[in-house]
Amino acid sequence: MRRRLLFSASAGVLGVTVLSACSAETPEKPKTPASSAGTEWQRVNLSFVSAYLLVRGSEVAIVDLGTPGSESAIEQGLKAAGAGWDNVKHVILTHKHDDHAGGLAGVQPHVSATWYAGEADVSGIRSETALTPVKDGDEVFGLRIIGTPGHTAGHVSVFDPANGVLVAGDALRTTDGLAGSDPQYTADGKQAAASIKKLAALDIKQILPGHGDPLTSGAVDALKKLAASLPS
Ligand SMILES: [Zn+2]
Repeated sequence: MRRRLLFSASAGVLGVTVLSACSAETPEKPKTPASSAGTEWQRVNLSFVSAYLLVRGSEVAIVDLGTPGSESAIEQGLKAAGAGWDNVKHVILTHKHDDHAGGLAGVQPHVSATWYAGEADVSGIRSETALTPVKDGDEVFGLRIIGTPGHTAGHVSVFDPANGVLVAGDALRTTDGLAGSDPQYTADGKQAAASIKKLAALDIKQILPGHGDPLTSGAVDALKKLAASLPS
C-alpha cells in the first residue's frame, strides 16, 4: 500500500491525516493523533533508489538523499506531505555510498537540521555541516538507530518502535523479493548476515528499503525466513 500524507491546518497547528492512494475516490479519514502513533512515512522514489520522509506533526526526518541532484525530487516529496524544507529537523544517512548520501550537497543549503550518519561512515561523507555520529541504540526524533554493519562498516538502519517501520538503507533490498545487501557492493558479507539476523529479532511490520518497493505486508515473516536462510 502506498500512502500519502495530507496536512490540514487547524487553529495554527498542523494535524495529520492519512489517505490511501489506492483509490483516488477514498474519502479523508478522521484525524489521527500524531503523538503516540509514531511517524508517518512517505517514499521519495528516485527511480533506482529511494529517500524516505518520516513525519511527525509538523516535523520531518529525512532518511537518505539519493544521488547528487536529488533535491528537487525531495522537495516535491515534502510538498506532497504538506511540508517544506523548513519542517526538516533531522537528516539521517544510512551509509556513505553516493546513491544514498550523494544528494547531501544539494539539500544542505535548504535545511537547518541536525545531520547524522553511522560513526564508521562519517569520515567517508563529504559535508559542509558536521555530521553527528550515531551508533546502535541511539535515539533520534523518537526513532531508534539500529547498527547494521556489513554493507559498509558504519551502515545504520532507522526503526520506529511505535509503528514497526524500518528504513533499511542497503541492509535489505526488495528488488527481487526480500534479500540482503547486494554481495558485489558489500564490504563484509558475514557482518551483513549478522545484521539481518539482528533485524529479524525486532518487531518489524514494514520495511522501507533503499532499493526496491516498500514491503508493507508480511514483512516479519519474510524477514525471519531470510534470516533463517543465512549462515551464522
Ligand atoms: Zn550502498
